[in-house]
Amino acid sequence: MSLRVRWRMWLLRSGRKPRTVRRLLYHGHSVTCPCCGWAARRYMAHYNRRDAVCGGCLSQERHRALRVFLDGWLAQPERPLRVLHFAPERTLRRWLEGRQDVDYLTADLDRAGVDAHMDMEELPLRSESVDLVIASHVLEHVADDGAAVKEIRRVLRPGASALLMVPVDSSRDATYEDPHIATPEQRAAAYWQADHVRLYGRDLQTRLARSGLEVSMVQPSRQLSGALVRRYGLLVEPAVLERWPIAPPDEIYVATR
Ligand SMILES: [Zn+2]
Repeated sequence: MSLRVRWRMWLLRSGRKPRTVRRLLYHGHSVTCPCCGWAARRYMAHYNRRDAVCGGCLSQERHRALRVFLDGWLAQPERPLRVLHFAPERTLRRWLEGRQDVDYLTADLDRAGVDAHMDMEELPLRSESVDLVIASHVLEHVADDGAAVKEIRRVLRPGASALLMVPVDSSRDATYEDPHIATPEQRAAAYWQADHVRLYGRDLQTRLARSGLEVSMVQPSRQLSGALVRRYGLLVEPAVLERWPIAPPDEIYVATR
């Protein structure tokens, strides 16, 4: 057994807090999480990726990409912005809650600990009352995503936008959904996860635009140097993409009313 492995085992059994253990195990300065500022030797492995999760805030690639994008989007707004955040990611939530220039509302269908429980297909909000909607990895769980996006359009003020992210199968031209696929096992096999109700394809932009919103796709990784993209951990390793037809995790669909 190598010294490194023995040290690792000793640390894990030492009774220290998990965050402290992670700090010692990943000590270094090669990566810096844009969400929490955690500096480390590398990101932690997760599921099918070797470098994925921040040891400080547990953010994944898509969370960090969204944070990088939001940093620019929310730079010095002229007035406080009403932000509606569905299924809020903990690290982004902590940051948004602390901002004086954001009037922040968190929502989820049934998860505890949010400001309001909301069905996305029927939002209990006034029309034209929201400046920014954030919904990452939510629409693939919603039965009628067309109705949900129409509702988002209704509550956005004219000129305001929604930032939408979903898992996309980049090998698929058209989104796949079949009402006969109904059990968790069938859904996991067809749509990658037991609680997904469809698998989006490359028609996502067109599909979202049916609501009347103007939709464009942005990738924060394309605005930054390769060194910074690696430091922030915004993309998955090419080896993962060879095995899985997933679209880059930093694809953000900006849907503007
Ligand atoms: Zn972090």
